[in-house]
Amino acid sequence: MLALLNGLVFDGSGETPLRGTVLIDGDRIVDVGSVPYPQDCQTLDCTGLAIAPGFIDLHSHSDLQVLEDRMEKVKQGVTTEVVGNCGFSPFPQAGDPKTLHEFGAGILGKADDWGWATAREYLEQAGRTATKLHVAPLIGHGSLRIAVVGMRQEAPSASELDQMSGLLSDALDAGCPGFSTGLMYAPGSSAGKNELEHLIKVVARKGKMYATHMRSYSSGLLDAVREQLDLARATGCRLQISHLQAAGRANWGLQKPALAEIEAARAQGMDVEFDIYPYQCGSTVLTQWLPQWAMDGGTEKLLGRIIDPSTRKQLLKEMTAMLAQLWSDVTISAVGSDANADYVGMNIQQIADLRHADPAETVLNLLTEEQTKINVISFNQSEENLHELIAHPLCTIISDGFYVKGKAHPRLYGTFPELLGTVVREKAWVALPEAIHKITAKPASRLKLKNRGLLKKDYFADVTIFDAGHVASRSTYETPALDPLGIVRVIKDGRTVYGDGPGVV
Ligand SMILES: [Zn+2]
Repeated sequence: MLALLNGLVFDGSGETPLRGTVLIDGDRIVDVGSVPYPQDCQTLDCTGLAIAPGFIDLHSHSDLQVLEDRMEKVKQGVTTEVVGNCGFSPFPQAGDPKTLHEFGAGILGKADDWGWATAREYLEQAGRTATKLHVAPLIGHGSLRIAVVGMRQEAPSASELDQMSGLLSDALDAGCPGFSTGLMYAPGSSAGKNELEHLIKVVARKGKMYATHMRSYSSGLLDAVREQLDLARATGCRLQISHLQAAGRANWGLQKPALAEIEAARAQGMDVEFDIYPYQCGSTVLTQWLPQWAMDGGTEKLLGRIIDPSTRKQLLKEMTAMLAQLWSDVTISAVGSDANADYVGMNIQQIADLRHADPAETVLNLLTEEQTKINVISFNQSEENLHELIAHPLCTIISDGFYVKGKAHPRLYGTFPELLGTVVREKAWVALPEAIHKITAKPASRLKLKNRGLLKKDYFADVTIFDAGHVASRSTYETPALDPLGIVRVIKDGRTVYGDGPGVV
């Protein structure tokens, strides 16, 4: 047995913390509060420290890295990671693995040498090699579609749709807690109402979560929210709108009406919530600044369109019309080639100035030089809007972190300490019990995780002990790969996976 003594216990419910003991036996919590503990029990003095349920990252892209026990999340206090978001999962893989690799490499952080035919096989691998945290994989619509339809951007036939439903159903039965779409990423972006409704009905029937990276977070935000609410209304699914925000200065005014749509749907009894990372910048791939049609058929076709004078002209025109930020808001975070490695950390405007070229032209040239594989960090969000989202009762806090060859967004290394340090302690946007709720019991309830997310009798002993006065992220855009401060010990199923902490007897 292990007794965590004298800590301030935040049980995850959002209620005021109580000073007391958390008593653990094996992988379970036996009791919480002013409880007696056996003489021969191992004890840990947590005086001056906060004891909370292990954090649950409801939205990440570490599908491949969790299998290698990478520690970036564990060091932040995370004990459960939800992967397979935004339509990208490393399964189901069928046919030529190159197609799935080409689709997923930019987000999953590995060019090749991965892929599982079924969710069951991926989960088996996770059971063997992911030892530091629990992995909860969503099945991604983009990957599912590629397995059946390939890179074609047209509606699947009735039999293809049946095949997709079958694979989806198998994945959910195998243990996936839900399904994700990424409607800004080709080829998933070509899915119409019929296809989505058909698939989400399967998810709803099985009582699982549907998480969506919507069709637009910029000028089309309101239509995108309405499309998802309509799908949820038609199917009865539990809807999670991923990383909600109005991206780009020109669109900041759209956030309030988007929230109003979601609140109205809730008032009608729909189960819809959303999430966001606690940063004003986002992170994605540079092809997101192209119109969707440019991506039809994959990388080779795109490169051909960039070379062809007439399609190139059309691309430049649409890119400029679509642009909601300034080109100086878009910074390169990773490239594949050594020739362009110096551009990592520079924004598109700076690179265009260096090259004495137009910024949109520069984007097309860079995409050609790098065979389209470029990661970026973009300044998307106003502080006021971010505050409104984080403080909203329907909001879960996520990392949305992913690995890149260059400089990853600091959210990969610091999301949860950033929330507890900057957002809670320095800015006081939310109180500490509420912030902890947003990264424990709330995501657990979105996933319908059994006996996780709270410090409560008979719950699994996933526990994070931290110093609320000093917890902080050290990760910056310039130097992201730095460990956070103040996370003292992380316990998964009763076993310490990170940290020693004071007072081990
Ligand atoms: Zn996304």
